[in-house]
Amino acid sequence: MNHDRTGRIDRRRFLQAGAAATAGAASLTTSSPGQEAAAPNDTAVLPKRKLGKTGLEVTLLEQGAARRDTDRVLRFAFARGIRLFDTAKVYRTEPSFKKWFAQDPAIRKQIVLVTKDMPRKPSDMLRMVDQRLDTLGTDYIDVFFLHGLGDREYGGIDKSVAMLRSPEFRQVADRIRESGKAKFIGFSAHHPERAQLLQAAAETGVIDVIMLQYRPWLEKESALNRAIDAAWNKGIGLISMKQIANQAFGDKPRGNILEEVQQRVPALAERKLSVFQGLLHAIWTDERISAACVSMRNTEQIRENVDAARRFEPLKTADILNLRDEFRAHNPTLCADCDGRCSLAAGTKAELGNLTRFLTYFTRYGDRVAARREYAKLAAEARDWSGADLEAARAACPDRLDFARLLPQVDEYLA
Ligand code: SF4
Repeated sequence: MNHDRTGRIDRRRFLQAGAAATAGAASLTTSSPGQEAAAPNDTAVLPKRKLGKTGLEVTLLEQGAARRDTDRVLRFAFARGIRLFDTAKVYRTEPSFKKWFAQDPAIRKQIVLVTKDMPRKPSDMLRMVDQRLDTLGTDYIDVFFLHGLGDREYGGIDKSVAMLRSPEFRQVADRIRESGKAKFIGFSAHHPERAQLLQAAAETGVIDVIMLQYRPWLEKESALNRAIDAAWNKGIGLISMKQIANQAFGDKPRGNILEEVQQRVPALAERKLSVFQGLLHAIWTDERISAACVSMRNTEQIRENVDAARRFEPLKTADILNLRDEFRAHNPTLCADCDGRCSLAAGTKAELGNLTRFLTYFTRYGDRVAARREYAKLAAEARDWSGADLEAARAACPDRLDFARLLPQVDEYLA
């Protein structure tokens, strides 16, 4: 990872964020992690970082899709200092923004607004941007994303890479940017081979921003880590998503996991951080990442994460690795950061990473309909894990997912 480059990261702001964090920490010492903190600057805008070379500055924390009680969640997130907001056609949360902008037109210019859709071909984007503007009730989008690039809706990873590299994609992206309807073009990606997408984006120079599924303990020499470096070196803004979220250890952790983790990672206890706050600090320690998009669903989650952003200071590598070990030890369910080596090791065509991801949607995120819908889209052989060597899959998985425990649940809940 190249941290010596200048010009891409606003180091002054980075250090200021640390200083503000220290000041914030002093005023928060009586609060338990995750509790509402009555800091004097509780409603000030959160620390920001540059978003690649877009010229945008974004808060460390992005409000992801809330899906329930969206009107209230958006306003609360804004009131607590978040200025980066994520939505998408499929989330059906855009009308809440329209209502918000109609009630308070000044809000629009104070936030960075990201929305997404799934064009099958580049020219579809022209119509889609117009539709999103209409649904959002605004005359510009800050960043328009191709949603879940690499997924089967695009015909898979190879077709997605080909689309990114096509002259037509460049022409359409330029046309949209010149129109001002969307200032920047990007994509979100959780595909196991998303490194290919990042590399293509770095090489073509058409993409401004990428939101990617990310873990703070990526292997240095992994394809994804190298692709992140390539994208970052070209000034592409990077946002982390699906980083584990509040569901890392379950919404209601079993036993005294939180205590155990705080013992294993003393920095958390010293800073009075909850486990999830520690994970956010680990993510923000990677200077290539401008913001973490978190689907905060209630005021408690917003308070906890905003508190983490205000008190951010980089973590030591040893602390991040301890966090990783604790995460692995507590039965993670979400596949996050690699190339699908589990299926190869297991000798199966079943998409073990996707199966566990959809299970996470169902059991941890509460997105039961989406989980079943995504599962139903898989080909029969992608669902059939019979005969797979699940111990070999677990050994190959960087997060040591316990497939023997998880896959029967996939069949029970999603089939
Ligand atoms: S090995 Fe683990 S992280 Fe990689 S695709 Fe499989 S489940 Fe996901």
